[in-house]
Amino acid sequence: MEIELLGSGLLRQKAEPVQPIGHEYRKIADDMIDMLHAGKGVGLAGPQVGLMKRIFVVHIEGSAPLVFINPSIIGTSQELTRYEEGCLSIPGIWAEIERPASVRIQAWNAQGKPFTLDAEGILARVIQHENDHLEGVLFIDRLPEGKRNKVIAKYERRAAGGGKAVPGKNGGVPGAEKTGRAAARAGDS
Ligand SMILES: [Zn+2]
Repeated sequence: MEIELLGSGLLRQKAEPVQPIGHEYRKIADDMIDMLHAGKGVGLAGPQVGLMKRIFVVHIEGSAPLVFINPSIIGTSQELTRYEEGCLSIPGIWAEIERPASVRIQAWNAQGKPFTLDAEGILARVIQHENDHLEGVLFIDRLPEGKRNKVIAKYERRAAGGGKAVPGKNGGVPGAEKTGRAAARAGDS
């Protein structure tokens, strides 16, 4: 597995349902959680590792890693909050995004068991960010156009500039700079 970066067409495709949720998904989920830890992120979705299936993993400090397969967000709060987000597929870029403050999500875990979860705070934020990935949507799409163009230009300058800001497609750790910041931000994915 390697991380797909902004510009990859896979990040723009809709992921397909997992059917059936076979035993191989336990290993896939474990591998994705390992990858999440390596990138020091808090969430990672299938399309980000080239797996075009409806699966994402979330690991928020202080709680166990969670696996969401075939998720549906079945409720969102009317209350909206703004929070700074980052993405392992767009290393070095952070932006404040407005989203519902809490969500109710239904999904299956890696053992194929269905569950429903009410989430708020960072967890709700990361769930929404990851769920977007399954639809081919990136957090920067939720910015006003002018701001979005600015952050894309910034990302491209970094990517073209060489040096340590360039994410390594293999060896590099995208978003390594998030160390120490991740706790304070909903750094993804
Ligand atoms: Zn992301």
